[in-house]
Amino acid sequence: MSSTVITNIATLVTNDPSLGRGSPLGLIQDAAVVVDGDRIAWTGESSKAPATDNRVDAGGRAVLPGFVDSHSHLVFAGDRTQEFNARMSGRAYSAGGIRTTVAATRAASDAELEANLTRYLAEALRQGTTTFETKSGYGLTVEDEARALRLAARHTDEVTYLGAHIVPPDFAEDPAGYVALVTGEMLDACAPHARWIDVFCEKGAFDGDQARTILTAGRAKGLHPRIHANQLSYGPCVQLAVELDAASADHCTHLTDEDVDALANSSTVATLLPGAEFSTRADWPNARRLLDAGVTVALSTDCNPGSSFTSSVPFCIALAVRDMGMTPDEAVWSATAGGARALRRTDIGHLTPGARADLTLLDAPSHVHLSYRPGVPLVAGVWRRGVREI
Ligand SMILES: [Zn+2]
Repeated sequence: MSSTVITNIATLVTNDPSLGRGSPLGLIQDAAVVVDGDRIAWTGESSKAPATDNRVDAGGRAVLPGFVDSHSHLVFAGDRTQEFNARMSGRAYSAGGIRTTVAATRAASDAELEANLTRYLAEALRQGTTTFETKSGYGLTVEDEARALRLAARHTDEVTYLGAHIVPPDFAEDPAGYVALVTGEMLDACAPHARWIDVFCEKGAFDGDQARTILTAGRAKGLHPRIHANQLSYGPCVQLAVELDAASADHCTHLTDEDVDALANSSTVATLLPGAEFSTRADWPNARRLLDAGVTVALSTDCNPGSSFTSSVPFCIALAVRDMGMTPDEAVWSATAGGARALRRTDIGHLTPGARADLTLLDAPSHVHLSYRPGVPLVAGVWRRGVREI
């Protein structure tokens, strides 16, 4: 194992609140970071950096933890350009568009699905994402759901079983029969390939009682819950997420005061996905309200071909700052440490000794540029597990 010092860093975001000037970002100016093997070995002022085998000059630019994208749907085939075009021409978004992707995904070969997945992962890596979660949910048969999870598990440990994405057309007259399949034979086939279980809890998808049944069955098989909650309407799903100790309630666009209180008094993270509101021209989730109430907030892409076809965490950071009331510092924390919390991971999302050496170098002197310079490709370098990949 060799060691490398990255030095001459204008701003280092460590997410260690004991460092820097009291910010949760643990900022160090004129900093260096030492990578030893796949771990962070040291952080501090450049002038105090220990000797190492290799040296990289950051050139007065910023370094931060790699982004942790805790919500994506990347095992799919097909394209929904026409649906997006129609929506931007005035048609409303509903959960039903998922069926288009289900048909294309079922028809695709394993090789086609994996090539698609690999392409979007490379795209995300170029934008600074070093950890991602991804879900099934476009197969909706026993074989197709298990296949999606098997393919995803080749590329990430954060794999989520989402057989309950929507009731497929073949079960349109028998939703109870589909819930039985999702909690029975399909769960048995999928659980060995997944860490998490998720439900699209929404009008037109699954109601609160169905979601409780599905998540409880998943828990009994060793899967941990996370929920698509309160995206399109108010409902019981955020409260259910808290009740079941879900790692995350995702979307959280329509919240009552009781929902916010429940999140604030729980270890369930609110994961906000502004790409979805952008791409469906919907009202933004109110991040400020959540943060002021003491809720832990994560920011993620929800990358999927229907409602949020972006793999760019920097884009989501810019939206969150411009339209959801987050400060630039809060948005960066949520896209790194917040994502790690939403995956209940302690080894990523921060740059402190012992953490995984996942780092992003920006072509900018500060992390604030991620929202100050929206749409600009600022990622100049990415290290994953101590290996420089970009
Ligand atoms: Zn989603």
